[in-house]
Amino acid sequence: VRYDKGLAKSRKGFGAKLNALLANFRRVDEDFFEELEETLIEADVGFETAMKISDELQDEVKLRNAKSRSDVSDAIIERLVDIYESEGVDEDNSLHFAKEPTEPTVFLFVGVNGVGKTTTIGKLAHRYQQAGKKVLLAAGDTFRAGAIEQLAEWGRRVEVDVVTKPEKSDPAAVVYDAVVKAKKENYDILLVDTAGRLQNKVNLMNELDKIKRVITRELPDAPQEVLLALDATTGQNALTQAKQFKEVTDVTGIVLTKLDGTARGGIVLAIRNELHLPVKLVGLGEKMDDLRDFSPEEFVYGLFK
Ligand code: GDP
Repeated sequence: VRYDKGLAKSRKGFGAKLNALLANFRRVDEDFFEELEETLIEADVGFETAMKISDELQDEVKLRNAKSRSDVSDAIIERLVDIYESEGVDEDNSLHFAKEPTEPTVFLFVGVNGVGKTTTIGKLAHRYQQAGKKVLLAAGDTFRAGAIEQLAEWGRRVEVDVVTKPEKSDPAAVVYDAVVKAKKENYDILLVDTAGRLQNKVNLMNELDKIKRVITRELPDAPQEVLLALDATTGQNALTQAKQFKEVTDVTGIVLTKLDGTARGGIVLAIRNELHLPVKLVGLGEKMDDLRDFSPEEFVYGLFK
């Protein structure tokens, strides 16, 4: 239900193709599995993950002696949910907060330009502000022209405070000011924007390390999350980006943005299977309410409705 509107495209694309495959279903034979693999690959599930799902499904169908359409359909749905849930190093899709309730929680956002970092921070700020939390934002993307003002605009829109410095300032200096302010003025949560320039990985690595050091020096438990934003509409490119970011910093979870903009929502499964990282949040639109916690069941059932 919570995914209803945002998954409309994937439901019409990926979901409808799976449903069509099942509607034409006669028997579980080689053709059937070939078609299933094609459908999965077209939906951005990725080759490796598609083969894995198909192989496991073949075993499952034998094991259960599944013959009818509904048996096979149930087995597919269960496989899609399971491939997500069984893959985890960290099976936890939920966001982690400071253990000490008096200490601010810090989430660091990374990802390349345009994937939706700033928008996600705005949406999350709105969520926590609505929940009665004291929220602070740090405009750590001092590189991209307009990024600081964009975050400040979100701050005004959702009525939370934003720490900024002029363009080209040291991002770690912005973060330092924000962490000190968060501690001193008892903020519950600090959301940090960063610039994600993958073109220069060494610089990016140093910059993120420095930002983390500044945070950890003041708050030894923080950051509780390093969230990598990926644009679902870029399909397999998102996967490549994620692999590169994993080399640069310790990512704790994925924010999959613009899931409303793709008909091939299978990228969620690829991320889990190939990156072993949990998708923690999904973006289903541009507005402040268009952010959801990720649930594999709701996602998979949302596709088939
Ligand atoms: P950043 O450069 O990573 O900070 O990306 P922005 O937050 O500026 O987002 C880039 C564009 O993507 C903006 O036009 C956003 O409105 C749009 N956007 C972000 N998240 C979503 C989403 O979940 N769905 C849709 N449809 N658009 C989004």
